[in-house]
Order: sequence, then C-alpha cells, then structure tokens
Amino acid sequence: MKKPGKFFYPLIIMAVFEAVAVALWITKDNIFYLFNFSYIGLSVSLGIFLYIAGNKHARRVVQLLVGLYMLVYLGLMRRENMQIEGFWYFLFTGVFEAATIHYAVAKIFGPLIFGRGWCGYACWTAMVLDFLPYKVPENPRRKLGWIRYVTFALSIIFVSALFLAKAADIEKIMFWAFIAGNIAYYAAGIALAFLFRDNRAFCKYICPVTVFLKPASYFSAIRIKCKKDRCVNCGRCRSVCPMNVDMTDNSRKRKNGTECILCMECVKNCPKDAL
Ligand code: SF4
Ligand code: SF4
Ligand code: SF4
Repeated sequence: MKKPGKFFYPLIIMAVFEAVAVALWITKDNIFYLFNFSYIGLSVSLGIFLYIAGNKHARRVVQLLVGLYMLVYLGLMRRENMQIEGFWYFLFTGVFEAATIHYAVAKIFGPLIFGRGWCGYACWTAMVLDFLPYKVPENPRRKLGWIRYVTFALSIIFVSALFLAKAADIEKIMFWAFIAGNIAYYAAGIALAFLFRDNRAFCKYICPVTVFLKPASYFSAIRIKCKKDRCVNCGRCRSVCPMNVDMTDNSRKRKNGTECILCMECVKNCPKDAL
C-alpha cells in the first residue's frame, strides 16, 4: 500500500480542529472559538509536519506555540484562568466557556483519543520544565503520586471557599490566582526537577490535572505499541523515557502506562524500528 504523503496527517488534524472551531463558533455564536481552535490546529499540524519531515525540535515548536498562546494571550491578556481553579470557577458558575471547554477537550474527554498529548505538546508549565537539564530522569521514580490528590482537593477547596465567603470581585481574585498559581507551579517544578534530577518530577507527583488526565488516558486510542517480532529487548527505549513508561509491554496495565506524554523519544531511539 502507498505510504501517505507528508501533508496527509497534518491536513487530517487541521480538518478535525477546524470542525471543532466552526462547530463552537456557530453553537456559541462567538468568533473567538474559530480563531482559538484554528490557531491550535495550525500549531499542532505544523508540529506533525515537522516531525514527519525529521525535524528534531518538532514537539518543542508546538509546545512553545500553544503553551505561550495559552499563558500569555489567554491567561494574561484575556484574563482567562485556564488553570484547574479556573475550571472549578466556571463549573460552579454553570458557564460552559473557555476554561470548561478547554478542560473538556484537552483534559477530560480528549485523552480518550490522544492520551496525555496535552502534557507533551501544549502545557505551559512543562514548556518551561522541558528546558531544564534532566530530560531523562537520573533517579528511580518515587512513591509520591498521592500528592496530586492533595493539590487537586486544595484547588476545589480554594474556589469553594471563595463562593461560600461570597467574595467580592471574584473574577479579579481568579486572575490573581492564575498569576500566583503559575508562579507557584514554576517554582515548585524547577525546585523538584533539580532535587530529584528529573525535569518531569512536578508532573509525576504534584500536578492536580493528572487526576483528570490519567484515568481517561488509560483508554487512549493513540498509544505507543511494541512490535514484538522486531524488538531485541535492548532497553534503549525505556532508558530515554522521561516518564518511566514500560512501552515494550503492550497491555493497558503496563508500568506507568497512563504517564506517557507521546513525546516519541522511545520511537526515535529504537534501533530496530520496533515502536
Ligand atoms: S502533568 Fe500537569 S504540569 Fe505536567 S505537563 Fe501535564 S498538565 Fe502540565
Ligand atoms: S529500543 Fe526497540 S528494540 Fe530496544 S527494547 Fe525498545 S522496542 Fe525493543
Ligand atoms: S518516551 Fe515513549 S513511552 Fe515515554 S513518554 Fe515518550 S512516547 Fe511515551
């Protein structure tokens, strides 16, 4: 069978995002959604094109294009709190707008299709953490994943308290919470990366968003699979994985299976083209 050309997958992805963009533009009667999802679709398509063309910075290009757009344009300029607190805020007010739509698409239902692609290609926290020196963890993983449930609970408690206390100018508080939350995430993420010699330590132990991401990505349609007939069990793939996934095991229950961020490092490094 003829191999699809370089533009095939980028165009398919662009079409999917365009369909979402137009559907939301029409149903919500807001042209912002057309611009927003077209921009993200274009960024992701460009990244896929660069990856197919063999550019080794493809993932980082998408991460910077989408991450900076969300942090600077949506977060700081449009004052949309796209962190988990913003999601609770809009959910409690019953508004199905930017933050709730973002969570539904990228973090709650989307991972059923693209797993934790958000974490590999769009998150503005990881966008900075991935610049740090420990791209491959230098220490074994620790049993600290329970912390994510504490931070998850704290995010609900914080927003609930604002509503219960009938805080004045809650929108302003949410904007400053976005700034303070990001500073705290960056500070904790950078400190943990150096402490554990692992750029993604924050993702593995602290990030509350993983409480949404992990269960859905267990069922992800897109996942790394190993062609057993080609694999020589050299272990190279596991040694370069930033998230400690055992990608040579094809079962859904594989070790750290819900941690895969689809960074493709294992695929790029397999000497036998087995992934
Ligand atoms: S785990 Fe959290 S901080 Fe890490 S990439 Fe995913 S959403 Fe971002
Ligand atoms: S790098 Fe390739 S050949 Fe080596 S263990 Fe992984 S899948 Fe198998
Ligand atoms: S190296 Fe492979 S298994 Fe590990 S996170 Fe990246 S894509 Fe997933």
